[in-house]
Amino acid sequence: MQQSDKVTMLKDSFLAELEGTFAVSLADATDLQRYQALATVAKKLIASKWRRTKENYRDTGAKQVYYFSIEFLPGRYLRANLLNLGLLTEAEEVMQDLGVDFNALLEAEVDQGLGNGGLGRLASDFMDAMPSIELAGNGNGIRYRYGLFRQAFVNGYQVEYPDDWLKNDNIWEVRQDSEAQVVHYGGSVYMAETPEGLRPVYQGGVDVLAVPYDTGMIGANNDVVNTLRLWSAEVPEGVQVSVSERSVLESISGELYPDDSNEEGRRLRLRQEYFFSSAGVQNIIKHHLADGYSLHSLPFQVAIHINDTHPTVVIPEMMRILLDEHGLSWEEAWGITTRTVSYTNHTLLAEALERWSQGLFQAELPRLFQLIQEIDRRHRLAVASEHGENFAWRTSPLQDGQVHMARLAAIGSHAINGVAPLHSELLKDKVLHDFYTLWPEKFSNKTNGITHRRYMHAANESLSALIDTKIGESWRSLPKDITKLNKFAKDEDFLAELQDVKHENKVRLAEWVKRNMGLELNTDAIFDVQIKRLHAYKRQLLHLLGILTDYLALKHDKNAYVAPRVHIFAAKAAPSYYYAKQIIKVINEVANMVNNDAAVNQKMQVVFIPNYGVSLAELIIPAADVSEQISTAGKEASGTSNMKLMANGALQLATMDGANIEIIRAAGEENAYAFGMDTDTVYSHYEKHDYSAQGIYDNNPVLHRVLDALIDGTIPNIEEEGRAVFDSLIRDNDEYFVLGDYASYVATQTRLGQDYQNKTAWTRKALANIAASGEFSADYTVAEYADEIWNIPHKALAQQESK
Ligand SMILES: *Cc1c(COP(=O)(O)O)cnc(C)c1O
Repeated sequence: MQQSDKVTMLKDSFLAELEGTFAVSLADATDLQRYQALATVAKKLIASKWRRTKENYRDTGAKQVYYFSIEFLPGRYLRANLLNLGLLTEAEEVMQDLGVDFNALLEAEVDQGLGNGGLGRLASDFMDAMPSIELAGNGNGIRYRYGLFRQAFVNGYQVEYPDDWLKNDNIWEVRQDSEAQVVHYGGSVYMAETPEGLRPVYQGGVDVLAVPYDTGMIGANNDVVNTLRLWSAEVPEGVQVSVSERSVLESISGELYPDDSNEEGRRLRLRQEYFFSSAGVQNIIKHHLADGYSLHSLPFQVAIHINDTHPTVVIPEMMRILLDEHGLSWEEAWGITTRTVSYTNHTLLAEALERWSQGLFQAELPRLFQLIQEIDRRHRLAVASEHGENFAWRTSPLQDGQVHMARLAAIGSHAINGVAPLHSELLKDKVLHDFYTLWPEKFSNKTNGITHRRYMHAANESLSALIDTKIGESWRSLPKDITKLNKFAKDEDFLAELQDVKHENKVRLAEWVKRNMGLELNTDAIFDVQIKRLHAYKRQLLHLLGILTDYLALKHDKNAYVAPRVHIFAAKAAPSYYYAKQIIKVINEVANMVNNDAAVNQKMQVVFIPNYGVSLAELIIPAADVSEQISTAGKEASGTSNMKLMANGALQLATMDGANIEIIRAAGEENAYAFGMDTDTVYSHYEKHDYSAQGIYDNNPVLHRVLDALIDGTIPNIEEEGRAVFDSLIRDNDEYFVLGDYASYVATQTRLGQDYQNKTAWTRKALANIAASGEFSADYTVAEYADEIWNIPHKALAQQESK
C-alpha cells in the first residue's frame, strides 16, 4: 500500500471504530476512547495474519518453542504494534491531520505490569524478537488480575497501591474458552492396579479451571503473528463452592508475587507455578496428539523453554502426563521430557535459588512429589557409583526437607544457559559446578538482548530518524548494521545533531518531571541515570554516597569543582524488603535536602521518579547521558537496562559485572567508565574473610564524613533509616562491598564529569556506544537459542553468517 493510502485507510477505520464502538464524535471522545479505537483498528489489522500464522504452523507441522515464564513485562502495546505493522509514522500523520494529541492517546493505554523487572522484560523482548525473525515462538504465563503494585511516595516512603491494570478492557487479548484446561491441586494419591496397568488414584483435592487469554505478538514488517498465552484461574463449571472457596481458587491468578529475588515459601506462589506450567503442558500435548503426531515425536515438534526455575514443575508434570495418562514407560517418558525441556538460569544470588519445603510441595502436588522422589532416586543411583555419596547428596532434588528447583531443572533438561559470559562461567565454576561435571555439554551462554524497536526506534524516534539519514534503514532489521555509524565519528555536524537530539530528549523528560513532580531540571547538566529494581546488590547506595560526597564538597569547600549533574533514580522495592525501602526513604530525603538548598542546587539535583515501569523507561532512557550499572561484581547475571541505555547514547559507569563486560568491550574501554573490584577480588574476600568496612571507614576521611552524615542529623528526617543504612555498612560489614568500591567510584565520577565538559568528545563516545549496540539486539539472542538449543528455523540475519 502507498503511504497516502495507508493514511486514508487508518483515518477512516479509526473514525468508524470510534463511532461504531462508542457512539461519539472525535471531538467528544476521551483519550481512552481514542486509544481503544485505534488499538482495535491495529488488532483487526493483525487478525488475518495471526490466523494464517497459526494455520501455517499447524499445517506444516513446524516445530514451535513455548517460552514458559512466570512474568512478562510488556508495557504498552499500541506504539510498538504500530511500529511493527509499519504504521507508526502514518498514525502520527493521521492524528496530526485530525488535531488529536497522539501522545495523550498513547498514554491512555495502561502498562501491562505482569512482571517485576528484568526477567519479565526479557521475556517480552523475546516475544517481540521471535516473530520478527520469523521464528515460531510462543509465550506461556499467567494473566494476573493485579500486576506489580503501583508505587507512590508519601513523606519519602514507598507506599504500594494495587495495580488494577484490567480495569479498562484489555483490547489486545482474546479469551479462548475452548482451550481451557483443568489443573488439580492437593488431596492424596495412591497407585492401584487397573486394566491399563498401575495408575494413580486421586482422593480429594480441588480442580481449578485455567482459561487462556491470547495476545498476538506481531513481527516487524512481516506476516508473522505468534501467540502469548496467559492463563486465568476460574472455578470449573458445575462445581459447587462457597464464595470464600471461590476467591481462594481465583486468587491463583490474582496477583503477581512482588519479589523477584527472595523466594519466600508461599503456598500461593507454588500454586501459581504449577498453574501455568500444568495448563501449558497439557495444552501442548493435547494439540500435538490432535494434530496426529505420536508422543515420541514431541521433542521434534515442540521445545519448552523455562525462564528461570519458576516453571520447573513442567518436568514432573510432563512425566505425569506421559506415564499416568498415556502409559509410557519411565525411560520413554524421561527421554521425551528431557529432550523437550531447556532451562535458563538467571541468578547468582544463593538466596534466590528456589527451594520449596517438601511438606508444602507434597500437600499441594502429591503426585508430582512422588514423581520427583523417583527422579531423585534414579539420579542418586546413577551418579553415586562414579562420583560418591556426597556428590549424589549435593546434587539431589530432594535434600534436607526441601525440593531444590535448580537441581531438578538441571537434571530434567537437555540445555542449561546463563545470560552473559561471566554469569555462564560462574554457573559452571560455582553455582551449578557439580552439574557441569556431570554434563558439560548441557551448558552454554546466551547473552541477553533487548528490542531496539521498542527502546530506540519507537522511544527515540528523532535519534532513529537521524541515523537513517546517515546510514539508511537496513540497521532497523539488521541491528549490527548500525556499526556503519562509526564512519561518522569525525563528522562534527553529525555529532552536533546527535547532541541536539539528546538535549531534546532531556527537555522532554524535564517537562514530564516538571508536570508530574513540580521540579525544574537543569537540562544542561549531566543526566546520570540509575533505573532498575531497588536491591542491595544493585547498589543504589553507592550512587547515593557519591551524591553525598559532592554535596558535602560543595557545602564545605569553596574551591570544590563538581560537574553539574541531575541524578535520576527510578526503582520499586519489594513490599517485604524492608532495607530496600529504607534506602528509598534516604534517597528521597537527600533529594529534598539537595534540591532545596540554593547553595548547591545549581550544581546538583536528585530526582526519584516514582512507579518505575516500561513506559517510564521509554521516557527516561533516551534522555540519559550516564548509565549507572554498579552492582557488586559477580552478582548481576546480565542486566538489560545497560543495553537499552547504550543504544540511546548513554555511557556506562559500570562495574565489571554481567553484560557490562561485553558492552564495554564492544563500545571500547575508552568510551565507558569502568571501575571497582572485579569478581576475583570479591571471591577472594569471601575466601579470606579479609574485608573490613570499618577499616575503610577509619582510613578514608571523606568517606568517614559522608557516612556520618547518615547519622549526625545532616540529612533531615532519616533518623531511623540513616542509622539502618549506616549499621548495614559498618556494623554488618557491608555485604555488597559498597565501601570497597567507593573511592574508585568517586574518582571515576570525577573523571567523567571533566570529560563531559568537552561536548564533542563526549558525543563521539556516545556515538561509539550507539554504533556498538547492535549485537545486543534480542533478535540475535533468540536466533542463537533457536540454532543451538531449540533447533528451530528462522530468518537469516545476514551479519551472523558473514561473521
Ligand atoms: C530493562 C528493564 C528492567 C531491567 O533493568 P536492569 O537494570 O537490567 O535490572 C527492569 N524494569 C524495566 C521496566 C525495564 O525496562
